Amino acid sequence: MKFSIHSRPEILHQLQSKTFDLLIIGGGITGAGIALDAASRGLSVALVEKRDFAFGTSSRSTKLIHGGLRYLKQFEFGLVKEVGSERAVVHKLAPHLVIPEKMLLPLSEGKSMGYWLTSIGLKIYDWLAGVKEEERRRMLTRLQTLKAEPLLRKEGIKGGALYAEYRTDDARLTIEIMKTAARFGATVLNYAKVIGFQYDENGKINGAKIQDEIAKQEFSISATVVVNATGPWVDEVRQADHTISGKRLHLTKGVHIVVDKKALPIKQAIYFEVADGRMIFAIPRLSKTYIGTTDTTYKGSKDEVHATPEDIQYLLNGVNQNFESVNLTPALVESSWAGLRPLIHEEGKSESELSRKDEIFQWTSGLISIAGGKLTGYRKMAERVVDMVVEENFSERGLKSCFTQIIAITENPFKSHQEVKKYIEELANRLKPFQLEAMAAYLVSNYGRQTDEILRGEGAITESSLLQAELEYCLNHEMVVYPEDFLLRRTGMALFDTGRYDKVLADVSKILPSVEHIQ
Ligand code: FAD
Repeated sequence: MKFSIHSRPEILHQLQSKTFDLLIIGGGITGAGIALDAASRGLSVALVEKRDFAFGTSSRSTKLIHGGLRYLKQFEFGLVKEVGSERAVVHKLAPHLVIPEKMLLPLSEGKSMGYWLTSIGLKIYDWLAGVKEEERRRMLTRLQTLKAEPLLRKEGIKGGALYAEYRTDDARLTIEIMKTAARFGATVLNYAKVIGFQYDENGKINGAKIQDEIAKQEFSISATVVVNATGPWVDEVRQADHTISGKRLHLTKGVHIVVDKKALPIKQAIYFEVADGRMIFAIPRLSKTYIGTTDTTYKGSKDEVHATPEDIQYLLNGVNQNFESVNLTPALVESSWAGLRPLIHEEGKSESELSRKDEIFQWTSGLISIAGGKLTGYRKMAERVVDMVVEENFSERGLKSCFTQIIAITENPFKSHQEVKKYIEELANRLKPFQLEAMAAYLVSNYGRQTDEILRGEGAITESSLLQAELEYCLNHEMVVYPEDFLLRRTGMALFDTGRYDKVLADVSKILPSVEHIQ
């Protein structure tokens, strides 16, 4: 099945033409992971997403594939072991998109992280995650820490630590996994919202009613099993199945802000403590630095989540208190995003204490819901759900067990980070005659070797022909419908290249086919 906006009518037809083994609701990383796992094992899979893929939390995270050092303090050894070990696996599956990044952890007088406890903690962290010897944590003296990051405020610094993490682009990771699921035969559609369920005579769920959000028409999808992977919307969907009893979600909001690298020119990613004892990240990305996150209980609309001036000021204060001669003000904030953590409610626990572990719930109707978890752990979460689906419904088929640990999640993948670096250099040379060499790193971290397809024309490349080619690629291979899909989730431009965003916004709206033409 082609993953193109032009295939929408064909996909709509397919979705209505048979009974699928599995229908997945939600096109975030959790749904995408389940679709790939299930389709690769041989199940027939349908997936619907009410807005764009990765519209929810999966485009609004800290964009780290990380082991969650913080969870060690909460004695969540199982979680740290699982997500920590997954980092290297996901890096191997998409080396251009999951990039090794050393994290600096400064340790200061009077803060909650002591030097020796951190040293032991990081050792356990590396050991639990099976980190290779050469990549294990390195403890730093005061001098070494200040050399690693001269911008740090010097007073009180006792030392620091450097440890291995990976950074990613969450929305791109989701879209690539979704494309891979489609290559394995999953039938997936964005702008298709589940508005109700269908049941057999025994009250068992056997499909869903869908609203096509573009044609504004309703249709149905039949399926043996239905999985609710809607992140922050999990309880809303459970409500539609009348299964809302027992455990519930506790949503917390996390905000990030982006400033120009010149305003906060850090040398590498840093994880530091702020005045209230919480930890926040500052992470370089191309010519910007982003900072986050907050963690506050959220009860507002799940479809419209924004950073408030207070959220922004909290992050700015955190930076200004920790870095010398840095004075970030709201005027320097170029963009921001806010996401919701779909955590499982636990009585009496504060936002930061709530577990990040995933949980699977099943109701008598058969609806399976999955919530909680991390971007990093998507593969193992998917494995657990699909194991359950197969065991309960399709055990007689003798299907393969999960093998997503060896399925590359992009077409024409790179084998290593070294290969990625070489390709960026070659591309920069190719773009130099057109004065576009600065675009090489962006193109490769976004599209990997799929950049070849974007630049396949022979002639001269201009800023405008590059935009046109990128957009065409995203229409034909990534199901872009609206400008925001392209500018925010496929390219990250709206967050990390606001200069280009302002220049191309009008052109993008002109080039995109109007929605009447894609029904
Ligand atoms: P979502 O991405 O929200 O996807 C659910 C989808 O379901 C949405 O796209 C929504 O539109 C769709 N949907 C809802 N209702 C319907 C319906 N009726 N019909 C059809 N579709 C529907 N994890 C990490 O590993 N690393 C990090 O650095 C990290 N940082 C984070 C920072 C913040 C601030 C937050 C909030 C989370 C962070 N996480 C991180 C956690 C991670 O982002 C989430 O666990 C993950 O993205 C959740 O994905 P999901 O697919 O379950 O939910």
